[in-house]
Amino acid sequence: MKLNREALFELVADLETMYCNDPTASPDLPLLPQIKGDAMDVLVATILSQATTDASAKVCFDRLKRAFPAWRDALNASQDEIAGLIRSCGLSSQKASAIKRILDFTKGTLDHLRGISPEEAYSTLLSLPGVGPKTAACVMLFAFDRPFMPVDTHIRRVAGRLGLVPAKANAPQVQYLLQKVVPAEIAGKLHVLLIRHGRKLCTARSPKCVRCTLSRNCDYYSSSVVGSRVAASPGAGSPEPSMDSSGASSSRTGSMSGKAAMSLPQ
Ligand code: SF4
Repeated sequence: MKLNREALFELVADLETMYCNDPTASPDLPLLPQIKGDAMDVLVATILSQATTDASAKVCFDRLKRAFPAWRDALNASQDEIAGLIRSCGLSSQKASAIKRILDFTKGTLDHLRGISPEEAYSTLLSLPGVGPKTAACVMLFAFDRPFMPVDTHIRRVAGRLGLVPAKANAPQVQYLLQKVVPAEIAGKLHVLLIRHGRKLCTARSPKCVRCTLSRNCDYYSSSVVGSRVAASPGAGSPEPSMDSSGASSSRTGSMSGKAAMSLPQ
């Protein structure tokens, strides 16, 4: 699947059809679209959601909001106090430290980012302690409704398998490539739907390609699934394509070498 605006519109339409036309209707809606709105809310929720389930992060987020209805209320809280409130979502000491440092640095508000350009807002977010491209893009997309594309493990895997990006591109590279073309009106939907697809069908191990309507346009399917059937058929001489650690076909990676050679930020 080639990466361009039309392909992304078509991809969203196919995924919406596959996932019942309403990405917000399912109870497994990722955490950030539920938080959507205040930039500090989204930033704190993104930190809480690391290495845990969305449900567990949501419980801790709600507990923090009950204790500190405005983030400025948390400025005098100790790291231990914050850690105590978020213990159930794991890594509580590291997450509390990250939240505390950001609250101290920002004085508890990111409201000033609304009045500046998206580029300035994004680089200001990147200047906050511990904030990287994915976290900054989450805030831009879900707090400010800007066409940024945070990339998690599911989005990276699905985009690589489809052939939208080189299979071996890292997350910041995938973010950069998708952001260059994603139409503003579908950025949020695309993010949510790709995560859902990575969780439901295009799983890391044993993707359920036979149930996936994207297979007609999927590089992984044509090289690894169809290709291996051809290789296994009587008289075929070519070896079966091997898989890299992401489950992507190495035979396809070879064909993507031109894209992979592009100069990309890390
Ligand atoms: S056809 Fe298979 S590899 Fe391709 S997107 Fe669908 S589930 Fe993923």
